[in-house]
Amino acid sequence: MDLRCQSCDKSFTPQVLGEPQECPYCRMRIGRLAQLEQCLRQWYYPRRWRVDIQQPSVNFLIEKLWTAGGQGERLYQAISPRYTNYDIFRNMVTRQIARGIEEGWVKLTFPEDPLVEDPVYKLDFGDPERFASEVERLFPEVDWSAPVEVPVESAEQAPEQVPARKRKR
Ligand SMILES: [Zn+2]
Repeated sequence: MDLRCQSCDKSFTPQVLGEPQECPYCRMRIGRLAQLEQCLRQWYYPRRWRVDIQQPSVNFLIEKLWTAGGQGERLYQAISPRYTNYDIFRNMVTRQIARGIEEGWVKLTFPEDPLVEDPVYKLDFGDPERFASEVERLFPEVDWSAPVEVPVESAEQAPEQVPARKRKR
């Protein structure tokens, strides 16, 4: 799959999709999230008329990955932040994980071909302590002296499996 440089608008074939790239024409850096966004957009484009498919967004895919199998609720209950409901909690953690992917302390494995019908993305918390401390920082009111187990290990998700939801934009 080719990537398009947002700066000079030229397309090129990345060496390893999902690792930060440099545009061979203008040297602009193209990060992991920008690549994910392009993958999802290119995947969606030929399927845009299908009523059973919602346009997948970066944050929605990440949220589906880390909350899969009830992990989101379990983490919420384990932390029990006093001033934050589950919706906001999910949103905050998703943004933190997105940052982790960009910075490399959360690993997002891209499918070999992101344009197949059922591409599977895989999320790995290679550094659970880092993840735990990032979550800790989000909720300073929580008593972190008691051990809070961060149950997330890894998850897989294809955009296809994203349930119907109100379309953004
Ligand atoms: Zn460029």
